[in-house]
Amino acid sequence: MSGISGKVIAITGASSGIGETTAIHLARKGARLVVGARREDRLTDVVNHITAESGTATGLVVDVTRREDLQRMADTAMDRYGRLDVLVSNAGTMAVSPFDDLRQDDWDAMVATHITGLLNGIGAALPIFRRQRSGHFVNVASTAAYVVKTPQAVYAATKTAVKVLTEGLRQESGPDLRVTLVSPGFTNTEGIGKGADPEIAAAMTRQRDEIAMPPSAVASAISYAVEQPDGVDISEIVVRPTAQA
Ligand code: NDP
Repeated sequence: MSGISGKVIAITGASSGIGETTAIHLARKGARLVVGARREDRLTDVVNHITAESGTATGLVVDVTRREDLQRMADTAMDRYGRLDVLVSNAGTMAVSPFDDLRQDDWDAMVATHITGLLNGIGAALPIFRRQRSGHFVNVASTAAYVVKTPQAVYAATKTAVKVLTEGLRQESGPDLRVTLVSPGFTNTEGIGKGADPEIAAAMTRQRDEIAMPPSAVASAISYAVEQPDGVDISEIVVRPTAQA
């Protein structure tokens, strides 16, 4: 199926920021959405927004670190819409800190959300994509997957893993499947500085207010990859504000 209209698209981390904006953007282009995240109230807002604009969306409480939640997300797409065309693995956490702070729970959360979460999505969607002989993985990494800046080493390492896993998946996915890595730079979302040490969070928020691009820039990049004709794979997109070094 070419284009976006009619496609069934599941997005993780769709309760705010890039995921929410992408869901609304793709729904306006006629996609049918399954949106997942942990905050049910925020997901309900997203679903209500889409349906108020005559779009189609189903919300589902999903913790990507739990394999069964991703399975349920894929099953919901199949039960409600009969197929799954795209899985956007976007859920993420940016609780960055210097190593000396020993915020090991935050390290664990980044590993679990970005690496295990991505693998859980692949495990749930790949068999469906193979059966359909079509499907598209869109994985959200970061410019941190290309350059490490302290104190973001753990975040950067997990996003580098996303990049590596995506390239390996792409190499194994042909000829019917498509695999895209989207790596945003500074984007104006509530996720910037969330959970980080207050001093670091304040610096990140300041930088966000000075240079960040809107989440619609990332939504457009994802949309561009999705709307390509069958047989055309946009393998990698880096999208950053012009002011970002
Ligand atoms: P937000 O905090 O707005 O969005 C993060 C989303 O991920 C939320 O919907 C959150 O929902 C969800 N999430 C977090 N953990 C889990 C989990 N375990 N299971 C399911 N959902 C989860 O930030 P952004 O929109 O900025 O972030 C989206 C993605 O973009 C992330 O992967 C981030 O690393 C990446 N990114 C962001 C950049 C930026 O500058 N903003 C730059 C580069 C990459 P909930 O809490 O309801 O579960």
